[in-house]
Amino acid sequence: MRKAFVAGNWKMNGNAASLRELASAMAKGMADVTAVDTAVCPPFPYLAVVAEALQGSPVAVGAQDLFWEVADGAYTGEVSAKMLRDTGCTYAIVGHSERRHVLGETDATVRRKLGAALDGGLCPILCVGELLEERKAGKTENVVERHVTEGLKGLDATALAKVTVAYEPVWAIGTGETATPEQAQAVHAFIRGLVAAQFGRETADALRIQYGGSVKPDNAADLLGQPDIDGALVGGASLKADSFQAIVASAG
Ligand code: PEP
Repeated sequence: MRKAFVAGNWKMNGNAASLRELASAMAKGMADVTAVDTAVCPPFPYLAVVAEALQGSPVAVGAQDLFWEVADGAYTGEVSAKMLRDTGCTYAIVGHSERRHVLGETDATVRRKLGAALDGGLCPILCVGELLEERKAGKTENVVERHVTEGLKGLDATALAKVTVAYEPVWAIGTGETATPEQAQAVHAFIRGLVAAQFGRETADALRIQYGGSVKPDNAADLLGQPDIDGALVGGASLKADSFQAIVASAG
């Protein structure tokens, strides 16, 4: 039985005061939530502020990205897994579509970052998903297969147990357009099948696969009710405590 996991990606939003307030509201509103794992991923400069506001609450902290070297070094502007652990992070998102398509990250980069997260004691959330033109061209499974296979390449079952996969069709991110529960379920089942072929059925059955793409309180229950959807990665709706909490409640 997989425990649902709902994470909020705050992207490049907020400031110290607003994010402290948001985190404090979530700490209060979700103090008793134990049936669902929850996390929020603030921008790097506010990780410590948010971690402090969430101290003692079941809501964990995650980073939106990290560098592929685990510890210290001469990498101007980069942030390591070791630093993120030190700042209170449990999770790190890798391969978000905005990093793949706006910042030019490749599958190889994403795999290195995922490895660094694991080596540095973080639980990676590996984002995978197709562009609109790829879906229209019937290439959804090819793209998702490449993201999953390359992203998890070389891992063993013990490492995979720390990984969450987030299926995020790019055309549904921040657009208000959501995959239907059936469309999302089909891709989630496909991903689980890929993982089963590579790592065995037991490992695949234990893997949590989140859906992301305009998840809102009013569509969360239908999406999260699908058998292979184990939670959500939430962008816009995670910037308000009440809407994030409503999505978490749908997962419980
Ligand atoms: C995201 O960026 O991961 C995301 C799913 O955003 P939104 O919920 O705003 O579509």
